[in-house]
Amino acid sequence: MPDTPQRLAGLGVSQGRAAGPVVRMAGPPSLPAPRPVADRDAEAASVARALEAVAADLTKRAGAADGEAAEILEALAMIADDPMLREDAEKRARDGLDAAHALDAAFAGHRDALAGLGGYLAERAADLDDLRHRAVAHALDLPMPGLPAPGHPYVLVAEDLSPADTAGLGPDVLALVTERGGPTSHTAILARGRGLPAVVACAGVTGVPDGTVVAVDGVTGEISVGITAEEAERIVALDRAERARLAASEGPGRTADGHPVKLLLNIGSAADLVPGAEGVGLFRTEFLFLDRKQPPSFEEQVAAYAEVLARSPDVIVRTLDAGTDKPLPFLGLPDEPNPALGLRGLRVDRVVDGVLDTQLEAIARAAESTGTQAWVMAPMVTTVEEASEFARRARAKGIARVGLMIEVPAAALRARLLLREVDFLSIGTNDLAQYTFAADRQHPALADLLDPRQPALLQLIAMCAEAGAEAGKPVGVCGEAAGDPRLAPLLVGLGVTSLSMAPVSVPAVREELAGVTLEECRARARAALA
Ligand code: PEP
Ligand code: MG
Repeated sequence: MPDTPQRLAGLGVSQGRAAGPVVRMAGPPSLPAPRPVADRDAEAASVARALEAVAADLTKRAGAADGEAAEILEALAMIADDPMLREDAEKRARDGLDAAHALDAAFAGHRDALAGLGGYLAERAADLDDLRHRAVAHALDLPMPGLPAPGHPYVLVAEDLSPADTAGLGPDVLALVTERGGPTSHTAILARGRGLPAVVACAGVTGVPDGTVVAVDGVTGEISVGITAEEAERIVALDRAERARLAASEGPGRTADGHPVKLLLNIGSAADLVPGAEGVGLFRTEFLFLDRKQPPSFEEQVAAYAEVLARSPDVIVRTLDAGTDKPLPFLGLPDEPNPALGLRGLRVDRVVDGVLDTQLEAIARAAESTGTQAWVMAPMVTTVEEASEFARRARAKGIARVGLMIEVPAAALRARLLLREVDFLSIGTNDLAQYTFAADRQHPALADLLDPRQPALLQLIAMCAEAGAEAGKPVGVCGEAAGDPRLAPLLVGLGVTSLSMAPVSVPAVREELAGVTLEECRARARAALA
């Protein structure tokens, strides 16, 4: 019987509970000092076995993946199987190196050769590093780096996860816990998209040994380490019951005493829409055109926007938000020393002609062709002058309702004046936190500053909501904070009129709001501001 479970605290970023054995994702192995070799043939055989094991593991993963992921894994397996690479490594072992050093040296040689060829082949050099780490780990009898495949359901624990890791998560993963990462990191957004409980910024979690049974609470961020099998079963049953309860939840957002709060969706394309929603609060149009070298045509844009407008009530389309973490190659923006503080969002219009006007016209045409009203907002607005110019151009194209995102403290401070220019505001708490606290939203060590409960952030939200109430115009929140069931009552108490979130988050937020009165929401807001 284990002792009382130890508790670790992180930030809950994707709701749900899970319990299961920990499997840690290993990092790249470091080479120990060279080992004297007694039997050189045996060492060469161990080299060959390591490469075979790596190739077999990648082939197995390719079989379990599909599409592009499967192709990438197959290509990697072929490189690991390359006879030239194997012969080179075996020869180095026969010349007296131990298996790990022989593999390391052979991979280094091939990497340099590829890098020297330039172009596409040089880009493949990084793939060799990944294979090197795997082969060396095998030779040293260490866990393979990269996503584990233990063959049973598990809680994945990692220092951090790359976008490639997260894209490759299999169905055996019960929950994610990372030592680093922030609430708006890739791990968080991807986990929410998949409905996987996730906790980030959890100090000490990578020290929990593999196989230890843990409970993960994706709302409170608490990890209970070393729980009993009965406790794990109880948590799994609770989670199942909670998911069933949420699956049955429907209807518009309201507090217990009937105060309406629109619950809207954040989407990147029509594929993200779910039936029964009250509308779309943030259509991130740049997600349609990431990776494009040529600008999307007017007709292509009209079709993409019309598809969403035709299938959902009340859609707020955001104009392209390019820059920093969302590069749009077709814009040809220069590299900048400080991209988050440079030409991004609406500011791109300062240096690239025509893109904004074409998009506004395409949105207006899509609305006309679907017989709907388009609501359009601009990202990264900073001054009243920018707001007024954006509103003028949008209205000139026939956009019915014009709004602004509040992502920069300067804009929040001038919310009253901005609302004289436009019809609504939508607060992007991800960027508003980044710029209020001067803390990179992707920075793993600054998660506490990016916590949306920070009073300075709440105060800026309150200022916007008060300005909206005075002007009789809607002010919503569309950053990740809006989808956190613990924060929703607080945001409503601050006075926001809608919450826009990943579709998977809507039921829990709806149920949470249904359990509190408006006065209770206001009391929470007062307490949080104090
Ligand atoms: C935000 O900044 O809060 C926001 C919703 O925009 P994005 O996450 O797309 O930058
Ligand atoms: Mg933003």
